[in-house]
Amino acid sequence: MNSGDQFAFLLPVVLALFGIAFLIVWRWGSKPALHWGCGYLSAALGFSAQFLTGIVPIEVQALTADILFLSAFFFYGQAMLVHFGKPTHLAHRLGAFLLGLCVLAYVVIVEKNLQAELLVSDLTCAYLLAIPVICVRKSGRHGVETTLLVVVSLVVGELLVRNAVFVFLGTTGGLETFVSSPYAFVMNVGAMFGGIIMALTALAAVTVNVIFRYREAAERDALTGLLNRRGFERAIGWTNKAKLAVVTCDIDYFKRINDTLGHATGDTVLQGVAALLRNTLPKNAHIARFGGEEFVACIADCTLHDAYTLANAARLVLAGLDWSDLGISTQITASFGVDVSTTNDQSIHDAIGRADTALYQAKRAGRNQVFPKPERQTDGANLRLISKNGS
Ligand code: GH3
Ligand code: MG
Ligand code: MG
Repeated sequence: MNSGDQFAFLLPVVLALFGIAFLIVWRWGSKPALHWGCGYLSAALGFSAQFLTGIVPIEVQALTADILFLSAFFFYGQAMLVHFGKPTHLAHRLGAFLLGLCVLAYVVIVEKNLQAELLVSDLTCAYLLAIPVICVRKSGRHGVETTLLVVVSLVVGELLVRNAVFVFLGTTGGLETFVSSPYAFVMNVGAMFGGIIMALTALAAVTVNVIFRYREAAERDALTGLLNRRGFERAIGWTNKAKLAVVTCDIDYFKRINDTLGHATGDTVLQGVAALLRNTLPKNAHIARFGGEEFVACIADCTLHDAYTLANAARLVLAGLDWSDLGISTQITASFGVDVSTTNDQSIHDAIGRADTALYQAKRAGRNQVFPKPERQTDGANLRLISKNGS
């Protein structure tokens, strides 16, 4: 077996292995990986069609390879659109696929022109991938996705340039010389590496997104969608600790809701309070459910006074909510503690601890109140006055 034969065997095997790798990632919950997998398996079969030489008529062999390559690019395009959450334009792309196939059948069976067949096949493949690339061009959310967009665009560009060169040389009579030239070999190897680099980048992109999804699930509270303690720690790790305000919140007499109306109603109330905190606190606030009916929010670039005002606004909105849909005719209220980080703090938990102490002072003082930091109560005297007046 010479090196050319080995190469011919190697390529379908490599592409099929990529296909299988994508299908494994699909089993881990990635939808685009299914389409990448089908694409790479189709391409592997397309390159295997060369082994049909002498077994089936040349036209059948050529059209089999064409269908498989067109399918591969159709699936790559589908994978890109699904990956970036765009409409799949299925009718348009299937139309292009079938039109390309009809033209291919004509040039292969009627014209028996293999040069035209290469051109039509490559241009249809380029079109089937170019449309999705155009649709998703500005959708890269992280470095790997941006790299994927660049690589896939280069694959489309390479197909177009290669065919432009073929057409030019074909019309200037130099095609025969070109096909056997080192330049053509370099171009073919380039196309092969393009396919492999596209596979590697797509594999990285789908894998990174699966990891993101699992990490998101691991760092969120399933009931409320707020951060859990782990997610909170990581979010705070990235936050500038200067001028960081902490708000703690604990629902008043929550156990009574569970006891009288059941745990499911209690859960709905927790979801409602979480949504209220999300809507009333600033967008840059990291809000977590620290377990039970206790919530913690960290707000960057926020003074004690501003944090107090925000917490008090949340308190008033909560106290004014109507829960009659759940069969709750009374007010649901919460108590709040507020403090800011200081340069002496070892970690954010020092400020959370102080805000918690303030919160329990608010509980002891009768609930449905916001208490600023526990020490130096005179600092917060005016604020508490505002709170007790209920405005
Ligand atoms: P206080 O005003 O002093 O805060 O009283 P409370 O009743 O709100 O506080 P307590 O700590 O006595 O009760 C908290 C209750 O929260 C007890 C527990 O059953 C309930 N709880 C904890 N996690 C969940 C949950 O995920 N869903 C529901 N429905 N209840 C929960
Ligand atoms: Mg409570
Ligand atoms: Mg509690």
